[in-house]
Amino acid sequence: MERRIYLDHAATTPMDREVFEYIAPYFVDVFGNADSPHAVGRKAMGAVDRARDTVAELIHAKASEVYFTSGGTEADNWAILGGARAKRKESRTQVIVSAIEHHAALFAAETLEKEGFEVVYLPVNNKGEVELCELEKVLSNNTALVAIMAANNETGVLQPVQGAAKMAHSYGALFFTDAVQAAPYMQINVQEWGVDMLSFSGHKFYGPKGCGVLYIKSGVAIEKLVGGGEQERGLRGGTLNVPSVVALAKAYEKTVKGLAQSNEKLKTLSASFMQEISVLEGVTRNGESENTLPSILNLRFAGVENTAFLYNMDLQGVCLAAGSACASASVKPSHVLTAMGLSEAQAKESVRFSLGRTNTEEEIKAAARLTVETVRRLRG
Ligand code: PLP
Repeated sequence: MERRIYLDHAATTPMDREVFEYIAPYFVDVFGNADSPHAVGRKAMGAVDRARDTVAELIHAKASEVYFTSGGTEADNWAILGGARAKRKESRTQVIVSAIEHHAALFAAETLEKEGFEVVYLPVNNKGEVELCELEKVLSNNTALVAIMAANNETGVLQPVQGAAKMAHSYGALFFTDAVQAAPYMQINVQEWGVDMLSFSGHKFYGPKGCGVLYIKSGVAIEKLVGGGEQERGLRGGTLNVPSVVALAKAYEKTVKGLAQSNEKLKTLSASFMQEISVLEGVTRNGESENTLPSILNLRFAGVENTAFLYNMDLQGVCLAAGSACASASVKPSHVLTAMGLSEAQAKESVRFSLGRTNTEEEIKAAARLTVETVRRLRG
């Protein structure tokens, strides 16, 4: 493959080669259905159990609180739909989600609206942060569930999960956080964070696509979303994807072990990129805040349409995105940036650079040089 500079790690990451080699036997040798009542099945279930233990330990949960899903989207859908529907039995009919959630969470909220729930979309300030005083204003004893992501996928801005969870609980509501973007860069501690449910996805940290985790605190009752077999303690039907589950745990373990070092590297690379492009006028960082993932730079180049910029950068070998990959085919301005107060035109001048642990200083300098040239050319 021709050499490309990949700066779209928030969309997905390549599988870590060591992880890829580690799981090869799980496709051909340890091929059993983990629920089969014989030796071949038991061997597969042994691998799943070890993966579950690893994930549980890393997020400070019990193994029985870890459920494997088909990815972040299913985990988000399940937490929000399953949590709110279960709480309806207590006659609670209001759901609060932040306006900057991923489409997987927003879809679930819209579905609940159609089922008769009142859904409140929490605003964010111009730095892209949910403010707890806004949550306090809308919480009530009718609130079934609050969903606020741990880190935003477009801006990288971290959200006040711990405080929000505490506040939701004081009204008897469930609290869910989507940690899909946070998991590759932050040490998750479900006990310290105080969450009832938390999701993440393998392909954001050099693991497999189509495999994710939903943590459900023991004692929290949620309705099932995917039914059929009695897998995952009867709560999520479907034959377990053993190779992916094993890969997710392995990739996550490696990521958490290398967290401090890779975050340091990403901070240095981001600073270097910003330094190199500082020769350009009219550049604003969206969501600039102390509180941002080290991997994401969401930048607005005044007067430059992002679709033209992305196309030109792609032609020159640099892979970037305007925001969420799931919405990349649409020409709609980002709901995250408009929630932060940008106009539609400003949102359409914004681009997400998401760096990864395998990027080099040389790549970052080259991408910055091409950014400067491309912006200048498009500004004409
Ligand atoms: N939540 C967030 C914040 C994401 O960034 C993504 C993926 O981009 C998802 C959920 C969906 O995860 P998956 O791609 O595993 O379905």
